[in-house]
Parts: sequence; structure tokens; C-alpha cells
Amino acid sequence: MDSQARQFLFTLLNTPTPSGYEQPGQAVVEKYLKPHADAVRRDVHGNLHAVLNPGGEFRVMLSGHCDELGLMVMHIDDKGFLYVSSVGGVYVPLLQGERIVVHTAKGPVPGVIGVKPVHLMETKEREAAVSKIQELWVDIGAADKAEAEELVELGDVATIDRAPLEMPNQRLTARGLDDRIGVYVVAEAFRQAAREKPAVAIHMVSSVQEEIGLRGARTAAFGIDPHIGVAVDVGFATDFPKCDPKLVGEATLGGGPILHRGPNFNPAVHERLCRTAKEARIKVQQQPIQRASGTDANAIQLNRAGAAAALISIPCRYMHSAAEMISLKDADNAARLLAKFLLRLKGGERLIP
Ligand SMILES: [Zn+2]
Repeated sequence: MDSQARQFLFTLLNTPTPSGYEQPGQAVVEKYLKPHADAVRRDVHGNLHAVLNPGGEFRVMLSGHCDELGLMVMHIDDKGFLYVSSVGGVYVPLLQGERIVVHTAKGPVPGVIGVKPVHLMETKEREAAVSKIQELWVDIGAADKAEAEELVELGDVATIDRAPLEMPNQRLTARGLDDRIGVYVVAEAFRQAAREKPAVAIHMVSSVQEEIGLRGARTAAFGIDPHIGVAVDVGFATDFPKCDPKLVGEATLGGGPILHRGPNFNPAVHERLCRTAKEARIKVQQQPIQRASGTDANAIQLNRAGAAAALISIPCRYMHSAAEMISLKDADNAARLLAKFLLRLKGGERLIP
């Protein structure tokens, strides 16, 4: 990872991008890729496209989703407390006592998610975590409703206040590594491919609204009409307590990017990715997925009359929490693998299984 790439990743991770509110993140991606792309544009849905060799007849789409989980302000009560709903698959019991930032038109507003003192809880309250989001309240320090309304508007979104932190063994913990690390990987692969002359058109998409139903990749894929589409997302690392590899297959942090077999993935593309990894001496891990994956690869495969989809996953611990952890080594190896895969495509590949 060179210093430019590093700065890009950390800037992106420090930028709030809840689903539907990704544009601050897209601006970071746009600025980073503009010097390397033949064309950069944002579409009406908010996806950011960077294109190499746009005239190429054979089109390859790369997708990393820029959106992260968040909270949305739904209601402000008379005392000035905010009530929120979750944007994407937030696990509610994790939220109490967290510090958050509400992103408003006038700038960031800090808040905390309140919690009843443990001393005052009845036994059953102490034992059962609060799992309904409507039972949580956000305290932004406002004296009353009027003061809160001056700071925050309904429909503003919030994220947990958690800066990225580097750990030993090239590990990184941050909120929303799902899937800003995937955006990093497709951007890096794009940058590496741009240094040589790819034979195919490469459409890199920093997609929006994945966490609420793969919505950005769906419209982006329709517009691009790719022959091959590769999504990069986080995958389940299983190398921590209480995680059963029998459910999803084994994967470790630092063990290499994960490749997947299964109905969501084109066998010829999967085979090519495996072969490329082997030839480039990049260690990969395998996790089969027996159904539609919950990633942009699903939207891409089902585009129009179908596309040859693949998924590369970055092993991630504690997914959908603010403590997500990955290995930077896996991310960089995934980018290298993807760039090599792209540069080896000639454009006439047989993809029909
Ligand atoms: Zn994701």
C-alpha cells in the first residue's frame, strides 16, 4: 500500500456514507480516481463510475459498495431526545452507550445513545439486551424539542463515532469496513490496471445503497450492461471464538482474499480467478455460497439477460458492528489479484457454463 492509497483509504473510512447519503464518500473516490480514469461520472442514483478504455466492446464491471450502516432520525420528543431507525442491518443491542454523530445540513452534531443505569434495572432488564430500536433514545444535549430541532432535521442520518485504528499484524479496525474496504480494493485494482493497457472496457463502480437491497449495483449494471461483473465485499472470517466454520467455511484474517463457488457465480470466471491467483502466487481462501449472495454480485448476475458474476471477499471479523476488523494484507492482495485478472482478459472469453 503506497502512501496515496493509504491516505485514500483512511479518508474514506473517516467519511460518513450511510445508505442513500453516500455523496461525501463518492467525492473522495472521484478525486482519487480522476487522474487514472478515461472518464469519471456520477449517475442519477448516486453511483460513482470510473471507466478505463470506454470504447472496448467487452465490458467488465467492478463493484464495491460505498454505503455503510447508519441510523436515521425519525422523531424528536418534547424533551429534545431523538428517536432513530436503523439504515441497513444494524444489530440493536450493540448501540446503547455508544457515541454517535448526526450528519446535518449545518454540520456534524454529536450525541450519545442513552442507557438506563444498571443499578436501576430490574433483573430481567439486565439480562435481556434491548433489541427494539424504538426503545432507544439519542441525547444530543438539547434542553428541549425546539433546541433539538434547530440542530437536527428529521431524515438526517447518523453513524457511530469510531475512527479507524491500526492493530498489530497489519490489521485494521473501523466502522463500515463493510464495504469501504471493497471500494478501496476495486479502486486499487483500477489504478493498477490503468498503468497498463487493458484489452477490455473496465467500469469501476462505487455503488450506493447495497445495505438496503443492492439498489445501486442494480441500476449501474443496467446502464453498463457488463459481460463480467466482479463485486468486492467483506466476507465472514471465522477465526474468533464462537464462530462455527461448519456454517460458512473457514477463513482467517491474513489468510488471503476469499473466492466463492456457487449458483451466484459464473464457473468460468471463478476458475479464471483461481488460476490467476495460483499463477501470481496469491494465497486465496475458498468459501462456497449455496444461494444468492447478499452482495452486489447478485444484482449484477440478474442484470438484463444475465451477466457472469464473481465475488471476492475480504475476511472480516465482527461484521455489521463498529468493531469490524480486517487485514490490510488481504485487501492489497485482493486488489492485486483483481488487477491481474482484468489485464489477462482478451475480450472473447467463453462464459456460458
Ligand atoms: Zn457489504
